[in-house]
Amino acid sequence: MPKSSKKKDALPDWALDPADLIYDQPGHFSIADAPNTIEPLYKSKKDYRRQLAQMVERIDELQAIMNAQNRYGLLLVFQAMDAAGKDGTIRRVLTGVNPAGVQVYSFKKPSDEELDHGYLWRIIQRMPERGRIGVFNRSYYEEVLVVRVHPEILTDYQRLPKELVSDTQAVFDHRYSEIRNFETYAARNGIRVLKFFLNVSRDEQRRRLIDRLDRPEKNWKFSFADVEERGHWDHYMQAFEDCINETACPLAPWAVIPADDKLNMRLLTTRLVLRELERMHLKWPEADERLAKEKSTIRKNLSND
Ligand code: ATP
Ligand code: MG
Repeated sequence: MPKSSKKKDALPDWALDPADLIYDQPGHFSIADAPNTIEPLYKSKKDYRRQLAQMVERIDELQAIMNAQNRYGLLLVFQAMDAAGKDGTIRRVLTGVNPAGVQVYSFKKPSDEELDHGYLWRIIQRMPERGRIGVFNRSYYEEVLVVRVHPEILTDYQRLPKELVSDTQAVFDHRYSEIRNFETYAARNGIRVLKFFLNVSRDEQRRRLIDRLDRPEKNWKFSFADVEERGHWDHYMQAFEDCINETACPLAPWAVIPADDKLNMRLLTTRLVLRELERMHLKWPEADERLAKEKSTIRKNLSND
């Protein structure tokens, strides 16, 4: 049996179809119905590691093909409440993929220079190139999440003219539409967009924040802002629900990942990244005509060199 098909067959066989976690049509997502935990897909930590390694190896292969083909790129967007595990998930999905094929960027509060431009300015500069996997740790979605929860950001921080933001609902409706257009534009130019919402529960977030207080080696991760934002939990959940319903479409779907079990979350996310790459029908480029014709002569000449 050829090596590659053996590996493919050995990919995890799950009762759950990870595609069930995908939202690719507007208006179908209900945060109240989205689970924070599901039946574990692994039997033990060893089994988790084995499944993860297998999938990452295949992602690495497909990225190499995507790079050789140089036609498509893939953008993975990660959004979540604090302590949901974005960093760890991104690390696990990508550890083992050729670092030259991956670009990761974390979007923080915009800088003064960034605030002098429209909100997509900083994003466009960080879009992955053809052949690469780009990862956004937070993204332009902050513009309809944190800004929706704190609309005063529009005037006080983003310095938008008052008359342009007097109707706040209209501002966010415009942003949903701009985001849909931007993602469609990317997809039509060969850059596919897959968006992840790591859906951690309020209780699990509390446990993780307390853990950051309790363990000295995790103290550095503790942020007062995270506790403050937690106070706006319901408002954030509404913002996530609306944003997913407004921006889920076949060209740029959302994946809503149960995030209370970190290992399960990483397996599901990795599987969905792999699924997206598999759907791209990537193929090694064919040898050009001249090479095809002259291959045997060149080989002979090189052997006799
Ligand atoms: P970690 O805490 O794991 O280092 P993080 O992504 O939480 O990662 P922080 O520096 O703690 O990084 O937080 C970044 C903050 O920047 C978040 O509160 C986020 O909401 C905010 N932010 C990101 N983009 C924007 C934006 N466009 N406008 C306003 N706030 C933003
Ligand atoms: Mg933070």
